[in-house]
Amino acid sequence: MKCQICDAPATFHLTDVVNKKRRELHLCERCARERNLIPEPPGPQIDLKALMGLLTNPFHAPPALAPEPAPEPVCAQCGMAVPEFKATGRLGCSHDYEALRPALEPLLERIHRAMTHAGKTPRAVRVSEWKRRLGAAVAAENYEEAARLRDLIRAHE
Ligand SMILES: [Zn+2]
Ligand SMILES: [Zn+2]
Repeated sequence: MKCQICDAPATFHLTDVVNKKRRELHLCERCARERNLIPEPPGPQIDLKALMGLLTNPFHAPPALAPEPAPEPVCAQCGMAVPEFKATGRLGCSHDYEALRPALEPLLERIHRAMTHAGKTPRAVRVSEWKRRLGAAVAAENYEEAARLRDLIRAHE
């Protein structure tokens, strides 16, 4: 089957029922992407996996830290739980940040401390970068991202 737009092999097939009529779309990946028909993979923009690496290879042996929070929150949408997040460094869906926030916040605070310790980027620079992205997210009506950035800024100011 060929892409309806450019004759490349169609790998993206969409069926849609509009007014009881079935519409079919057969597009190559490039054309589908150009029309924003392929959702971007969910996940935070910061490279959490790399940040988690800082925690598993700390500069100082960490003192016994606060006990794990109990009970463990789990995302109602995709079942993501904190241990899984710690293992993979990735969130399963866009609801996870809210769902797991009580458990993620101490984790993110530790990441923040590890980063501060590493002295990669001065805190003020990162916060002003988040503020810039917050403005862009609001302008784009990406309120989920805006809320995430707002919380991030709040936690670090
Ligand atoms: Zn195409
Ligand atoms: Zn989820």
